[in-house]
Amino acid sequence: MTDTLTPVLTANWADDRAWTLDAYTARGGYRGLEKSLTMDPDAIIEEVKDAGLRGRGGAGFPTGMKWGFIPQDNPNPKYLVVNADESEPGTCKDIPLMMANPHVLIEGVIIASRAIRAHTAFIYVRGEVLHVIRRLRAAVREAYDAGHLGRDIHGSGYDLDLIVHAGAGAYICGEETALLDSLEGRRGQPRLRPPFPAVAGLYASPTVVNNVESVASVPGIIAGGADWFASMGTEKSKGHGIFSLSGHVAKPGQYEAPLGITLRELLDLGGGMRPGSELKFWTPGGSSTPLLTAEHLDVPLDFEGVGAAGSMLGTRALQIFDQTTSVVRCVLRWTEFYKHESCGKCTPCREGTWWLVQTLRRIDEGQGQPGDIELLLDLCDNILGRAFCALGDGATSPITSAIQYFREEFEAGMTTPSRDLFPPAASTLF
Ligand code: NAD
Repeated sequence: MTDTLTPVLTANWADDRAWTLDAYTARGGYRGLEKSLTMDPDAIIEEVKDAGLRGRGGAGFPTGMKWGFIPQDNPNPKYLVVNADESEPGTCKDIPLMMANPHVLIEGVIIASRAIRAHTAFIYVRGEVLHVIRRLRAAVREAYDAGHLGRDIHGSGYDLDLIVHAGAGAYICGEETALLDSLEGRRGQPRLRPPFPAVAGLYASPTVVNNVESVASVPGIIAGGADWFASMGTEKSKGHGIFSLSGHVAKPGQYEAPLGITLRELLDLGGGMRPGSELKFWTPGGSSTPLLTAEHLDVPLDFEGVGAAGSMLGTRALQIFDQTTSVVRCVLRWTEFYKHESCGKCTPCREGTWWLVQTLRRIDEGQGQPGDIELLLDLCDNILGRAFCALGDGATSPITSAIQYFREEFEAGMTTPSRDLFPPAASTLF
């Protein structure tokens, strides 16, 4: 099965000092930049459009199209902002990527910035991941010293400054407009969209906000060509993607494969379930995506396939849970996270997540009341589509899907605590 892996971004993770400029250049790094400097900026955008790259942060919006939205007749400066605030529960692809291969991201930043005619770019990183911030800053210094950044890059006449900015550790700051508020020095809270950042983003200027993996995919597309990238994946979900496997699997980690691979194939690559574990439920893209079950093992993990199965591809954070896991307790944990991380700006999310936690907690403790399942569904109904941003919607996904597939566990919570049904000692996770 190993031939289904397509190591591109992960190819050098095991190399000695892979993160250094020397190691990256020795593997052909910065060739995409060299080629891009000979291209017209619009031709770069066309190449990325032709490759069919879709945003790797979760939503899957076409990257080249987003770049094409930047109004070049707007006299304000243009900005590129890399969203490196990875924090969706279960999602762990951007942080290892930046640790192992910061230069592929920096190379992508330079190519993307020139394509949209930006002269200042930012990488907004989670404040907690100090090791990543240090590594990125060291790599940026190396890139300046090598003439990849700064004035008149390699004699092209193009100038670019790249700033690594540390956030303060709030999940909401991964929402692109809250990220921009935070970058401007304000408390990170989402802004009303439209206008989208492409039209009015950082300092009310045209801004592309792209996920780390999206930007890091660009050097390969330029160096290898759109056709090479588009030859991987499925018709509408092209290219490679990093899948993060965690939970009750034998070999958790990051697996880079074409979009459209199935969980069954990934489990084969990941050594299967842990001994004694049977698949009970899983998330295709982190805790904001509806749960799936063993009946979905052969669903193609692309935007369309997962959508047709009633969930979302999201960040390809595959969290795998076995028969020892209480779905109620698991969903409660995630909901506590959303309640804690709700920024408080809108009532459905601020109040709704609080009520969801109260209701789930009593079900978890075996003290559920008649009507609690309907109450949960009603609360979710009042949050979904009514919250100011995707955080509220995401909070409802695990709950409604858990009730859809495991209603009996919620009903059992009217009389029996989940710790009695699923003794924590029996589970290796909770
Ligand atoms: P979205 O679909 O609203 O937007 C996606 C991107 O496309 C944005 O950059 C947006 O500006 C752009 N866009 C959409 N329509 C546009 C238009 N008409 N004009 C210009 N630009 C346009 O999704 P979202 O609310 O930004 O993000 C939700 C996603 O975030 C979810 O799918 C979830 O998987 C993901 N997510 C990721 C993490 C993480 O840690 N990586 C955490 C939470 C959520």
